[in-house]
Amino acid sequence: MGKLTVIGSGDAFSTGGRFQSCFLVEEGEENFMVDCGANAYVNLVRTFGDLDRLQRIFITHFHGDHFGGIPFILINRRFFGKGSSLEIWAPMGAKKRIRDLGEALYPGLGDELVDQHGLFIREYESEIEFESGGIRVWPVPVVHAPDSIPHGLRVNFGEKTMGFSGDTEWNSNILRIAEGTELMMLECNNFSSIRPGHVTYSQIEERGAEIRTENLVLNHFGEEMLSNLEKVKENMAEDGMELFF
Ligand SMILES: [Zn+2]
Ligand SMILES: [Zn+2]
Repeated sequence: MGKLTVIGSGDAFSTGGRFQSCFLVEEGEENFMVDCGANAYVNLVRTFGDLDRLQRIFITHFHGDHFGGIPFILINRRFFGKGSSLEIWAPMGAKKRIRDLGEALYPGLGDELVDQHGLFIREYESEIEFESGGIRVWPVPVVHAPDSIPHGLRVNFGEKTMGFSGDTEWNSNILRIAEGTELMMLECNNFSSIRPGHVTYSQIEERGAEIRTENLVLNHFGEEMLSNLEKVKENMAEDGMELFF
């Protein structure tokens, strides 16, 4: 049986003290992670321990609360890694974006961080399926800050399929990502205010029946959502929560 651990269920501001976006999926010896927000790194170390075991990371878009933790994973690997392989998949410009972020945080080390032995940083393109160690991933463009190259991901892992919306406002591609999945992690930043780039809970109340998944789990909560917890009927992610599939 596989397990998804919520490493970070929070938004960009870590509202309510939640870690930024990060989901770890494990089954047997295989694992992958979706996103690693800057401060999610802390909870990843606490939860997962030896980062040398981490096999692949899929990044939904280039915002700090989704990929800001990557340089810390790489510097940990640079100093303490035992040479195991790690694949990182991200939208177009992946290697340069990660290199530049690493260089800003650790001047002089940017190139060294991305050119490590056993590290493979790869770019995916919208609507072109990629494969990583037998895991098939379909990147679907979503509606969010365009400069961040936002995508949702549909991941086939063994017999199971799971969806990750990344950050997006309500749009029909959410339904495509979720269709027939065992588990759908959907961002829901706001409760009643409609704001560009993010889903609002009232939209899920209206249209939620169209989301065809066995288990819908909301995440990426802002203040409005956290102030209205008792009114939310769907499952809400919590840091440290484990979901079995
Ligand atoms: Zn975000
Ligand atoms: Zn974002």
